[in-house]
Amino acid sequence: MSDAAQLKLFNSLTREPELFEPVHPGEARVYTCGPTVYNYPHIGNMRAYVFADVLGRTLSFKGYKLTHIINITDVGHLTDDADAGEDKLEKAAAEKAQSIWDIARHYTEAYWDDIKALNIRQPAEWSIATDYVPQMLEFAKSIADKHCYELDSGLYFDVSTVDDYGRLARAATDEGEGRIEKVEGKRHAADFAIWRKTPPGEKRQMEWDSPWGRGAPGWHLECSVMSGKLLGFPFDIHTGGIDHREIHHPNEIAQNQAFCCTNGLDVPANSGARVWMHNNFLVERSGKMSKSSGEFLRLQLLIDKGYHPLAYRMMCLQAHYRSELEFSWEGLGAALTRLKRILMAAERLAEAEAGDASHPKLAPLMDKFDAAISDDLNTPVALTVFEDALAMKKVDPGAKRAVLERMDAVLGLGLFDLTRADLRLRPKGTTISEAEIEDALARRKEVRAAKDFATSDAIRDELAASGVEVMDGDPLGWEWKLESPA
Ligand code: AMP
Ligand code: ZN
Repeated sequence: MSDAAQLKLFNSLTREPELFEPVHPGEARVYTCGPTVYNYPHIGNMRAYVFADVLGRTLSFKGYKLTHIINITDVGHLTDDADAGEDKLEKAAAEKAQSIWDIARHYTEAYWDDIKALNIRQPAEWSIATDYVPQMLEFAKSIADKHCYELDSGLYFDVSTVDDYGRLARAATDEGEGRIEKVEGKRHAADFAIWRKTPPGEKRQMEWDSPWGRGAPGWHLECSVMSGKLLGFPFDIHTGGIDHREIHHPNEIAQNQAFCCTNGLDVPANSGARVWMHNNFLVERSGKMSKSSGEFLRLQLLIDKGYHPLAYRMMCLQAHYRSELEFSWEGLGAALTRLKRILMAAERLAEAEAGDASHPKLAPLMDKFDAAISDDLNTPVALTVFEDALAMKKVDPGAKRAVLERMDAVLGLGLFDLTRADLRLRPKGTTISEAEIEDALARRKEVRAAKDFATSDAIRDELAASGVEVMDGDPLGWEWKLESPA
């Protein structure tokens, strides 16, 4: 489209980078599996949405009209990816003695707060699973005869009824990860529930009538239904974390194939989406990513410790989305420092009006940026090109700003809206005010000028006790930062 480089995206279906060719010329339709809202998202989950956001921004940058859908899973996701265990939301509601609807609303809003804090753009629609139960029933009814069978516990999808089941996972039908036969009577271990009946004598908070009895939809059904309804089969790109490549997405694909066959859509091997993309995991050695551990890694924890949330976005951008990324506080600190350096360089352009981006010195960098981001979203390289453009000397500030704004529209750092004060976040529990800090530092400057180093050290110690680290000779020129008070 508008830029020279051709967009290539790695398709998990073929395990190859492929030239992006939209189903509808000039448009890009993307579906992203959203969070299960039974608890706060951890920062690993948020990596999946930073990735999907960079993908969406890249498609916009390349000139496509983007329609992006992210769903909210408020029903159907079990504690176990095999068909055993409880519904995650039912379990959380029982444990907290709250209504499931309140739980879902609370955690959906918390997720949206994280989305905003990370500069993730709003999708065209947040599709909420429970709003689509009638459509799920229609979908299930249309494939039930040919592709499903009923057991006491629910309606199951027979994976042998579609071609090449599990090709996304590259697993022979019965040996894929997590394929443990846990439900009595299933024909194949990989068969999965598309409708789960409420066991006799039990009552669930969320249940609906169906031709197979009162119950709730299986988790995989919702994504097939919402993506098909909102984007139309086939659509362009479906995204999720790498774990979804093993079970959730193969099952969605199987349902989509069944649906397309039975509903006269003329592509029998139709996978629903043409390209399936998966981000690798954020990993953490001490297990703090697990939502069951007390202090788990939520974005709010990073903020409470004094890190700006965009330092985490920066950390994600520094790694390619298909590489595993290891979280550490040192790594986060380094990402924050990098963000500060970038901000300081951008401050020089604060007064400049964005002008004509086609400056001869900047054009090669714009091309390099385009080439990097078009190469399966190579954000680590794109970031360095962005920094090269920032550092470029003797170019018209207006042209430079225009180029940087175009690049930042893809990276999503919101650089020209950020200030030093934003990045100097106050960790939870600090009480000292900025004015007090500035006063103390001014006094310290005076006593140092008078060579009274004992008083200077005392002031420094007092500040340290209030959580302020004085950084003499800080090459970044920030001079002080707030730490969590001891
Ligand atoms: P969930 O709320 O469990 O359905 O997960 C939301 C999204 O986060 C899904 O796309 C998962 O594949 C993804 N995900 C889960 N854990 C991680 C992780 N540690 N790193 C990156 N993505 C993850
Ligand atoms: Zn999904």
